[in-house]
Amino acid sequence: MEAVVPADIVLKTTALFTAEELEPRAGCVAVRGSEIVAVGSPDKVQPFIGPDTEVIDAGNKLVMPGFNDSHMHFALGSIQKDEDFCCDLMFLPSEQACVDAVAKFAAEHPDNPWIYGQGWYSPAWENPIDPDCRSLDALDIDRPIVLSDFSMHVVWCNTAALRAVGIDRNTPTPEGGLIRHFDNGEPNGFLSEPQATNILLDVVLNKPDLDASLLKSMRKFNKLGITSIGDMYPLGVTTPGVYDIYDRLASEDLSTLRISYYSALDAPMSESQALRVRHHGERVRMAGLKYILDGCPEAYTAYMHEPYLNAPTGKDFRGEPACNQETLDRMMLEASKNGFDVRIHAIGDASATMIIDAVERAEEVCGNKGARFAIEHTDNLKLEDIARMKRLGINAAIQPQHPIGGLGQGVYEESLGEERMSHMWRYREEADGGIHLGLGTDWPAVMSIDPIDTVYAAVTRSEFDGHPAEGYFRENALTLGETLQAHTLGSAYVEGFERRLGSLAAGKLADIVILSGNPFEMNPMALRDLEVETTIFNGRVVYRKDEA
Ligand SMILES: [Zn+2]
Repeated sequence: MEAVVPADIVLKTTALFTAEELEPRAGCVAVRGSEIVAVGSPDKVQPFIGPDTEVIDAGNKLVMPGFNDSHMHFALGSIQKDEDFCCDLMFLPSEQACVDAVAKFAAEHPDNPWIYGQGWYSPAWENPIDPDCRSLDALDIDRPIVLSDFSMHVVWCNTAALRAVGIDRNTPTPEGGLIRHFDNGEPNGFLSEPQATNILLDVVLNKPDLDASLLKSMRKFNKLGITSIGDMYPLGVTTPGVYDIYDRLASEDLSTLRISYYSALDAPMSESQALRVRHHGERVRMAGLKYILDGCPEAYTAYMHEPYLNAPTGKDFRGEPACNQETLDRMMLEASKNGFDVRIHAIGDASATMIIDAVERAEEVCGNKGARFAIEHTDNLKLEDIARMKRLGINAAIQPQHPIGGLGQGVYEESLGEERMSHMWRYREEADGGIHLGLGTDWPAVMSIDPIDTVYAAVTRSEFDGHPAEGYFRENALTLGETLQAHTLGSAYVEGFERRLGSLAAGKLADIVILSGNPFEMNPMALRDLEVETTIFNGRVVYRKDEA
């Protein structure tokens, strides 16, 4: 009989969730090098236990594949969530509270040449008036201060920041952007839209030690059981060389996160092809192309089949897509011909229809070349389009924290009406319709990056405080098994990576987590009590709670 080469690690549990099935069962996993070499009963895995094998007995705790956040903005998020670089202004109640936070941050970070903050939201302030430079200039800080709002569309800055980039009373307003002024003609430190805000952000966000921020995020993610991500537009920050940093972290074995990234669909095809040649590894892969076709209903920018009920632009207004059908068809055909996967942001139901039409036309011309297509978000989707998505093999990348963050606000009743609101985020119908779902957060624009919070939201449709107890349209919720599968194997499928990643099976990459309990035996409302105890990335333990 041929001798079995011993495993490095063997995990045993009464609750093994492989993601190939929707329920856990007792079993073991053997890991050697970066791969899983056996999954099954103790008898089957026993031969892999050698004298040097680390045997981890997880008892009745759930062992499952590492979480895969299928839609996020990694570099931008890493900068904004780096507490040594960015002052967190989220949820502060007033302009003065933000100014106080900035003062404290500046004192604690005397070596930061620029003071950057993010997350303020003046409509929610006690006194909801747009801020200007006077409150920041009143601080005794001579360094430039630049503060992005929650949406990243608006910047509030001090006079030193305006001076640093040469904005003065004579600076022309860039087309599509806004630079506000005082009555005396001087710029007042309030700028909006990228054409204006990027004059500052291109400088501020050009962080020389971006790699340190990325590494910090990776360690935080590992602690939460995240081992892979779908990265939408790595160049969301203006730091040049993001790709070089990704390469270096992977080649020096510093990276503990698999990055499948998507570059711009409307970039020249030769650039996309060069990236694909450059990044086809298992830690950094150029996974396809991304485009943003519309906005969101809050700003009346989601492109809908039926008009908004209260749009300030008029009663027939239903939003507008970022490009027309002809342009989308042309880009989709070009991508398909070249074998690129494509993922497109569509929050309105009419944008989703446009994408489905474009995929259908591309297939008519060049046949099915095996490329993966996904609609990002799918907040609004016509029922008949779910059947078309299934037929064309179009996947959906969803963010289950969005419904629990959005449905309690009262905005959708007013802009879309009760009936359309009740069908928003129809995950149940997508799953029943056979759509492959990938789960994620859209980090950093999300309440929590923790996958356990996302799982709770998908299963209960209740807010984190448990309200409403019956959930928002819980008939659209997913089951726990479906949710865990979508957050692992489903995300890998959306990323075109499922042959190597996403489930516990022999021959797959060994990204594995152990939770602190078995969620299948818990009341769903208590799921957020769960934690990650151990995270294995690429066959190596990268996080252990008892060592943290
Ligand atoms: Zn996004």
